[in-house]
Amino acid sequence: MNFKDKIRVIPDYPQPGIKFKDITTLLKDGKMFKVAIDQLVERFKDHEIDVIVGPEARGFVVGTPMSYAMEIGFVPVRKPGKLPSETVEAKYSLEYGKDSLAIHKDAIEPGQRVLIADDLLATGGTIAATLDLIKQLGGIPVGAAFMIELSYLNGRDQLEGIDVFSLVQY
Ligand code: IMP
Repeated sequence: MNFKDKIRVIPDYPQPGIKFKDITTLLKDGKMFKVAIDQLVERFKDHEIDVIVGPEARGFVVGTPMSYAMEIGFVPVRKPGKLPSETVEAKYSLEYGKDSLAIHKDAIEPGQRVLIADDLLATGGTIAATLDLIKQLGGIPVGAAFMIELSYLNGRDQLEGIDVFSLVQY
């Protein structure tokens, strides 16, 4: 059984023409979920990461178990208006839409080495905005870990100079 067998593909969701990769079918298999997180942790364990940043909501699902295993902090990136303290913001375009993201101003110390975690890399818009936020705070983006990468959308092109790793490619 490999990861792809556990990922459900839903046609025309949330819009006609999109083939949505649904990871809930992987997450509910505890053993596969653990293997997935373990492989991402293994890949980045020697990168001297200080903190993991994950965009809501599925970035929390991937990033928090990694930060627990690596014994480093987790920083949430959220839609504007959701974080309670002072924030900085960045705009981005999605595979299907436009939006902004926010991070707490004091979430990352200047010079800290940052790993980004999310479920899926599509066009890279979400991660480009997350990178922008990290840089605004003076963090050093070192790597980006994903369960899934939609290679045909070339999201990697937005992440030049960063070590990008995904478990499954479409
Ligand atoms: P990007 O900004 O175009 O790279 O899109 C990535 C973001 O959109 C991630 O945060 C994903 O959670 C979400 N996303 C886009 N396409 C899919 C999909 O097929 N399945 C699950 N999430 C998706």
